[in-house]
This record gives sequence, structure tokens and C-alpha cells, in this order.
Amino acid sequence: MNDTCTGNEMKLKIMHLYPDLLNLYGDRGNIECLRYRLQWRGCGSEIVRHTCADDGFSLEDVDIVFLGGGSDREQKIVCSRLLEHKRELKEFAENGGCILAVCGGYQLLGKYYKLEDETIEGLDILDIYTEQGGVRLIGNIVLETEFAGKVVGFENHGGRTYIGSHKPLGRVIYGNGNDETSGVEGVVYKNVIATYLHGPLLPKNPQLCDHILTTALKRKYPDFQGLPDIDDDLENKANKYIVGRYAGDR
Ligand code: GLN
Repeated sequence: MNDTCTGNEMKLKIMHLYPDLLNLYGDRGNIECLRYRLQWRGCGSEIVRHTCADDGFSLEDVDIVFLGGGSDREQKIVCSRLLEHKRELKEFAENGGCILAVCGGYQLLGKYYKLEDETIEGLDILDIYTEQGGVRLIGNIVLETEFAGKVVGFENHGGRTYIGSHKPLGRVIYGNGNDETSGVEGVVYKNVIATYLHGPLLPKNPQLCDHILTTALKRKYPDFQGLPDIDDDLENKANKYIVGRYAGDR
């Protein structure tokens, strides 16, 4: 299904993978945030929703791919479908395509997700792996990141993700993160951002949303000069409130 907002000079094509299955905690809000923050700058967007009912799959002209989170059961269904497109997705990432993957989607970008009685093969885009742990890691989380300042969200995962030599998205100031012990959260690889943060992530962290949009616009339009500022007063206040509440002055 396509959804287009036109009449603009610059436009991004955003693909939402399996919104029918990977849609926990309002992850769809990330798509709305990308779309509206483009529109508020006079840019257009085309949203392509690829669901289980869709046969064709093409990343042609796609600028940003979004994968949300889901239960282990839903993840298994999605993964069996996505493995058919492993090569295209890997090439997309290697060629600088932007991917945002949240929780279950994050785990699927790795080599595998090992559950108690079976192992789900991943897309092997990131050199990481996930193993099911003891208790679920649930709660608010605050990160310090390099390119988006303090990032806030909500995590709920049974899996522990081991990222090897990959660069994390941020240092955990409050919460659990990738594996409870390393003190880091998520992965940044080329233009791929993978994270456990739900919430949805982007409306809570507009600076991260603009980072993704800027990366995608620069890649598509070499003359792109940067996004004009918009009034983020409310968003920034909400972000600061969560940082203050959970992480104090840390
Ligand atoms: N099923 C995965 C886990 O529990 C991911 C859950 C999610 O996307 N919130 O680790």
C-alpha cells in the first residue's frame, strides 16, 4: 500500500516492513514522525507498506527502511519472509541506504536470535547475535549518544544482543540496553541504526529523526544544504523531562 505526500521538490521514499506484524508500542509513530518532519520542511514523502499479504518486494528508489518490534512468534514469521530478500537488504545497507530497526527488527539484522529451543536465522547485515536471557528487560531507558544527544525510550526484550566490534548507538545512562552488562545500547553501522528503544523512538527524540532525514536527503540530493529548524519546544521539553526523571544529572 502506498501513501504519498507530493507537490514538493525533495521527496523521500520510506518503506515500512511488516507493519502488520512488527508494530509494538506505537512503532508506527516513527513513520509518522519521518513523514511530518519532512512535510513541515516543505519536503515530500512516499510511504510504502510491505505486509505479509504483499508478494512483490523491491527496494528500488527506497531511501529509508523501517522495521519495528514484535513478539518472538511474529519475528519468526517475518524472518522467514525477509530471508528471501537478504541479498537486496544487505546491498541496500552496504550502499548507504538508511535503515532504522527497533527491538525485534534490530535482532533480525544480526546473524541469529537463539531461543531456548530453536535459533532464528538473521539477515546478517550486522555482525551481532542475540540470545534469549533470563528475565525480560523492561522499563524506561536513557542513552547518551554521539550525534543525537540524550535519547529516551522504553525497552522490553528477552533477548540479549552482543555487538562485537560494532559501534553502539549510545551509552546507557538509565536502563539495561543491549545485554544488561556492557552498558551500551544499539548499533550504528554505515546508515543503519538499530536499537531496543520503543516508545515510539523518533517523536520522543526529534534530533534523531532529523539525523536520519538529513542522512537520507544528503544521499539522494548531493546539493542538499540541511534541514531548516522547526519549533521543537514541546518535544524537547518532553525529552528533557524524561531525562531528568530517570537520569537526573547523569
Ligand atoms: N521478541 C524479542 C525479545 O523479546 C523482541 C521484543 C520486542 O520487539 N519488543 O527479545
